[in-house]
Amino acid sequence: MAAGDPTPQALRAFHDDLSTAYGPQRWWPTQDADNPRFEILVGAVLTQHTAWTNVDIAIAALREAGPLTAEALLAHADLPVLIRRAGPHNVKARRLRALCQWFVDNGGFETLAAWPSAALRRELLALHGIGFETADVILLYAFERPAFVADAYAFRILERYGWWRGRRNYERLRQQVEHAGPTADAAFYDELHALIVAHAKQRCHKRAPDCGQCVLASRCACALKAAPDAATGG
Ligand code: SF4
Repeated sequence: MAAGDPTPQALRAFHDDLSTAYGPQRWWPTQDADNPRFEILVGAVLTQHTAWTNVDIAIAALREAGPLTAEALLAHADLPVLIRRAGPHNVKARRLRALCQWFVDNGGFETLAAWPSAALRRELLALHGIGFETADVILLYAFERPAFVADAYAFRILERYGWWRGRRNYERLRQQVEHAGPTADAAFYDELHALIVAHAKQRCHKRAPDCGQCVLASRCACALKAAPDAATGG
C-alpha cells in the first residue's frame, strides 16, 4: 500500500504500471509534427480551462491565418477572433501576446534553450496569465526539461493512491514527486503526466473510479480501504 511521500522505486513502479496499462503516450499532441515546439507554447495557454478539441480548432484557425510563429501572432490584429473557440478569447489573446513578446525579446528557442530550467520557470511565472501548471507544461514539453505537472488529475489520483493528504498545494506536490523522480530524465515526466491524464479519463474518474479494473489497485490506498482483502489476495 502506498503511504506518505513516494520513494524513487515506488514512483517508478507507479509510472511503469500505468505504462503497462496504457502504452506509450508520446505527448504533446501537435498539428505540425515537424515543428511542434512553438505550437506547444500556444497550446499550453489556449488549453487553460478549455477542452483540447476547442484548442485544436483555435490552433487550426491560427495556422490558416498565417505561419504559427511568435512574430506572426503578435502581428494579428484579430488574434482574439482567431482563437475564439478556445474559451475567453480576449483574456487568452492578452496572455498569448505576453508570452510571444517575451519569446521574441529573448531570442526564441535558439537562445532560451541555453537557459537553466530554474531561470526559465521563474521568467515564465512572471508573465501575465502564466501559472504553475502552464509554466511546467511549457518547460516539460516545449523545452524538454524534467518537470512534474501537478494538475487536478494528478491530485485526484495521488490523493486516492495515498501520496497526498490535506489541502492541495501545487508547489509542494510538484517538489514531492520531483524529489522522488529522476533529476535529468524529461521523458519520464513527459510520459508520467500523459499517463496520469489517460488514467484519470479512462479509469480513475472523478465520480465512481473503476477500481475493479485498475492496474494500481493492489497499491492504492483508496482501493485497499474499500476492499482490504485485495492487499493480501484474500
Ligand atoms: S484503484 Fe481506484 S481510486 Fe485507486 S487509482 Fe485505481 S481507479 Fe483510482
